Amino acid sequence: PRDTVDVVVVGSGGAGFSAAVSAHDNGAKVILIEKEPVIGGNAKLAAGGMNAAWTDQQKAKNIKDDPEIMFKDTMKGGRNINDPELVKILSSHSKGSVDWMTGMGADLSDVGRMGGASVNRSHRPTGGAGVGAHVVQVLYDNAVKRNIDIRMNTRGVEILKDDSGKVKGILVKGMYKGYYWVKADAVILATGGFAKNNERVSKLDPKLKGFVSTNQPGAVGDGIDVAANAGAAMKDLEYIQAHPTLSVKGGVMVTEAVRGNGAILVNREGKRFVNEITTRDKAAAAILQQTGKSAYLIFDDSVRKSLKKIDKYIGLGVAPSADSLEKLGKLEGIDGKALTETVARYNSFVTSGKDADFERPNLPRALNEGNYYAIEVTPGVHHTMGGVMIDTKAEVMDAKKQVIPGLYGAGEVTGGVHGANRLGGNAISDIITFGRLAGEQAADYAKKH
Ligand code: ADP
Repeated sequence: PRDTVDVVVVGSGGAGFSAAVSAHDNGAKVILIEKEPVIGGNAKLAAGGMNAAWTDQQKAKNIKDDPEIMFKDTMKGGRNINDPELVKILSSHSKGSVDWMTGMGADLSDVGRMGGASVNRSHRPTGGAGVGAHVVQVLYDNAVKRNIDIRMNTRGVEILKDDSGKVKGILVKGMYKGYYWVKADAVILATGGFAKNNERVSKLDPKLKGFVSTNQPGAVGDGIDVAANAGAAMKDLEYIQAHPTLSVKGGVMVTEAVRGNGAILVNREGKRFVNEITTRDKAAAAILQQTGKSAYLIFDDSVRKSLKKIDKYIGLGVAPSADSLEKLGKLEGIDGKALTETVARYNSFVTSGKDADFERPNLPRALNEGNYYAIEVTPGVHHTMGGVMIDTKAEVMDAKKQVIPGLYGAGEVTGGVHGANRLGGNAISDIITFGRLAGEQAADYAKKH
């Protein structure tokens, strides 16, 4: 029958597609449902990279890394409330996940720096193009190649169980078909987070009331409710991340890689105020303390040339430029004289290799080539760290820490991997690794039932 499978995957972001492809490759018949009319979720919008340690791509660039260091960076960035067992999986499987994606046709050969990482480990396509759209496209192509049944405009509404509490499928609502059952031995929730739902966000963290969000419209958290109704326990819901750099002019998120590749942050007074590549929570808090609750990313043509994505921001008109820092200051209402001094001082740190003001750990290039650019930025709600509690097999647990048989979770809908604060580049890593794991586990489980 058409609506009976081994595994049903809910959500078409990176976690959902990874789960669907891996469940299929482990022998399961799969249906993937997506409530929106488009695939990709927030994963498709991810601009940064995919964190992974000790990869061939890093070796080719003489970057020394180790899953142990990635583990430590992730725990520290998450203020040590992460579930260490899940972080171990994230870091130790990360190279395997990059290889898995590469094997399916992904290009992750460019390796850059993101906040909170002690080495360059953020993998992205050559030239620094957006990683999320690329990864989702590769996964989608592979799902299509495998003839996986993908149903758009189809919302997962309620998990169905038998009398013994085992999952038996999911009640869905198709835009045209209405309500119907998809029968399955296992359900994988990969429904993403709820950053777009400000009512929900501000109830959990009142400081974020009225904040804009970087997320796609579907990121409202109905998947969390589906899980909760099925008895899932929740973890760390109150930890919600503001991305520090949302463009004030255009509402687009400006990837952290702009800073990673050399941009500095200044306030209207033309002064730096923070280590630009600190963790997101710290950078966001520092920007909110500046005059006008915003700041400017300042960079030159050498930074622009190092990252394709920047041309997109220029094309959108959110990165005005001038041939001197004085003029740029005048254009944007920044103190131009102070800005000129700030950049000269920063350039001297690049030469000496040491940031005497804010101890920025990477100083990739001086800002002294061609035109200068300024992007005005302010924080926006970006990622919800908390969610459904899972174990090391991606099985969803109830309040007594008992597994709900047949229910799996992966990606932003889950809590525990990122603790109190997610590092840039760890989302794509999370969704590929745990999506793939959930797919394997669910396929195995379905075989036995
Ligand atoms: P992740 O990064 O964890 O893969 P994404 O945000 O990229 O998460 O993707 C989650 C996807 O799940 C989005 O496309 C979203 O529209 C979809 N989704 C959310 N809730 C439901 C639901 N109840 N039924 C079907 N799809 C859902």
